[in-house]
Parts: sequence; structure tokens; C-alpha cells
Amino acid sequence: MFDRGIEIKTRDQIESMRAAGLVVGQTLELLRGSAVAGVTTAQLDAIAHDFIRSCGATSNFLGYHGFPGVICTSVNEEVVHGIPGPRVLRDGDVLSIDCGAIIDGWHGDAATTVAIGEVTDADLGLMQATEEALWRGIGAAALGGRVSDISHAVETTIQAAGPYGIVEGYTGHGIGSAMHQPPNVANYGRPGRGPKLVKGLALAVEPMVTMGTDETRTLADDWTVVTADGSRAAHYEHTFTLTDRGAWVLTALDGGAARLAELGVPYGGH
Ligand code: MG
Ligand code: MG
Repeated sequence: MFDRGIEIKTRDQIESMRAAGLVVGQTLELLRGSAVAGVTTAQLDAIAHDFIRSCGATSNFLGYHGFPGVICTSVNEEVVHGIPGPRVLRDGDVLSIDCGAIIDGWHGDAATTVAIGEVTDADLGLMQATEEALWRGIGAAALGGRVSDISHAVETTIQAAGPYGIVEGYTGHGIGSAMHQPPNVANYGRPGRGPKLVKGLALAVEPMVTMGTDETRTLADDWTVVTADGSRAAHYEHTFTLTDRGAWVLTALDGGAARLAELGVPYGGH
């Protein structure tokens, strides 16, 4: 059912999204262990492809507007949408992996950033700030609230963490029977704005944060988004929904229970 362009899912449909989300979460967990120096991003893509298929799921990335991979691999100054290929990961690289899957027509979408070998404290700080912003964004969502409550929490968390750039040209999004649906979920903004947060809404929240300015450009491959100043970037994403009891992070293996508890946010999954 759609309400003003926003898809409202039934409990059964949310359960299918949880099944898809678990495939995404498990794929990212597998890739986290496989992403080491000497491995190519194409090898990671092949691992993800095999695993998603073995789960009885399909990839929503492969063929999306012609995208050639089942994951996006974005290294160092690459922010998002990097294409897997012959690039060999090296010690000290920072790799963002974005992954999605479909089960019974319902979508999951999540991303994480992985340190390859030994990275600098500055890199770790960037990664931690971005992941923290993701969770605080989800934690700021409550039934009856507004979409920009999430945006505001993401922005203020990053601003409090350091002089980082918050990429504004790409946003989180609604998700359900398609990967990208209304509403957009910006990573900045005043709270209390945008569509109401209601039961059956599912959103992908995905802060993209840089060590420098927020300016980006797209490479000649028409996909890879890089920072304009060459500074490194991090990207984390989860798909979540709100139940009567609280937030349920559909792409987190534990449904988000542990991280939400740390934030004092009620867990809404089962
Ligand atoms: Mg994604
Ligand atoms: Mg997304």
C-alpha cells in the first residue's frame, strides 16, 4: 500500500525484508573477513555473488541502471558506487562495501567500511564517526516523528566528532518492493520535517563522510563518486523499520539489538 508515494509494508512484507536484510548482513560479514591486502575487488564481488545465490536471494545491484557488480567497492577517496574490478587492495586502504539483496520481491540494502590491514588513527576516527552517525540517526527515529529527525541526528553526530565533510548530493531512501523509493533521507537538516515516521515504513540510512570538504565528482566510468579534494571517505548503511516496540535494523545480524541498547533506544525486532 502506498500513502502519498510512501510504501507502507505489512508485517509479512517486513518479515520478507528481514530475510533479505539478513542475507545482506551475512554477505557483508563474509566480505569483511575476505577483504584483506592482495585481494581484488572483483574477487570480493564474486564471493558476494556466490553467497547471495546460495541463500536463494538475487542481487538488486547487478544490472541496476547497468551496474556490473553485486556490490559497490569504494576505496579511499572513492565515496560510493565504485565498480568491482582488478584493483588489488593494499595495506592501509579504507574500503566501503555496499550490498543489496532481494527475497520474494523485497529488498535489503546496507554498507560498511573496512580497514585493510593497518590504517591510520585518522582513518579509524572517520570510520567510527560515520558508523556512530548511522546508529544515532536510526536511534533518533520514533513512531510519530519525522524523517528529518534522522537527518539531524546524523549531521550533529558527525559535526560533534570532528571537522568532517558530510556529502549532501547522495542520500538515504525509502526501501521495500524496490531498492530506492521515496522519501529521501538526507544526512543533514533541521529535525521535525518531512514525512511522518509510521509503522510499515522502511528506510535505508547511509551517511557518507569525508576527511575534507563535502564536494564530490563522478569518474569517467559514470559510476564511481570520489571526493573532489582527494580526501578519504567512509560510508555505512542499514535498512530499518519501526515497530510498536522500537527500531528493528533489518540488515543487522542481531537486528540492531546491541547498538540500540548502547544508545538507550528500544529494540523493536524479535
Ligand atoms: Mg546501499
Ligand atoms: Mg542505499
